[in-house]
Amino acid sequence: MGLTLSLAIGYAGWLRGSLSRSGFAGAIATGTLTTWRGGYGRAALLVGFFVASSLLSRRSASRTDDFDGVALKGGRRDIVQVAANGGISTLIAAIGDVPGYRLAYVGSLAAVAGDTWATEIGSRASSRPRHILTMQPVATGVSGGVSAPGTIASLAGGAMIGALAIASGAFDRTFRAHRKKLLLTGIVAGVLGSLVDSLAGATIQERRWCDACKQATERVEHTCGNHTRTTGGISGITNDGVNVICALAGAAVGWGIERRASVQR
Ligand SMILES: [Zn+2]
Repeated sequence: MGLTLSLAIGYAGWLRGSLSRSGFAGAIATGTLTTWRGGYGRAALLVGFFVASSLLSRRSASRTDDFDGVALKGGRRDIVQVAANGGISTLIAAIGDVPGYRLAYVGSLAAVAGDTWATEIGSRASSRPRHILTMQPVATGVSGGVSAPGTIASLAGGAMIGALAIASGAFDRTFRAHRKKLLLTGIVAGVLGSLVDSLAGATIQERRWCDACKQATERVEHTCGNHTRTTGGISGITNDGVNVICALAGAAVGWGIERRASVQR
């Protein structure tokens, strides 16, 4: 059933232009493993994240052109992007119903959802994003940029995952009764995950520069055809690597909240 559902949802994502061919394969792998090991309830969170992300990226297709020159990849998500966003939650789902790993699952998806919402909604907002450390205005789409609309969007994205965790039957009745904790995990992981993503994007993520366009970019080969050069960060840490860090931060938030709660009980 997990394979069938993943095929259907992945195919719809490919038709819509949200997934590349390899991204389609990645969606099948993560969806099948999550459903098989975590059940339908937990898979519903992954589906919620995926569907919302696809809708948001389609709707922001009219975003400013400089985003396309700056961002690493275009609108279609490839297998590396799918793994960077859904890989950590899939691994956690595979561990099963172990204390700590239930909210870690919610937190990891809330973090990537928060970060995706922040990027997609923040890039359409009229206010210019600012660098998370220097607070200087940066171009839309530049990693490390934060904005008020983006931060609010990250809260909403995380809250959506928290709400899904309550509504979907991802956990047994007793655990699901801790509604505040589930929602809190979603919100904190969504906001914090998004901020960690911006922080990592501003510091360790590889920064590149196009001499022809005099523009910062994440691309090795710029949209103008020019080969870009590295100007900072750690070589090889791309936006995908930063997304993995974001998912891990969210998982840590969930893990912390669940472990703390069980200590107090
Ligand atoms: Zn260029």
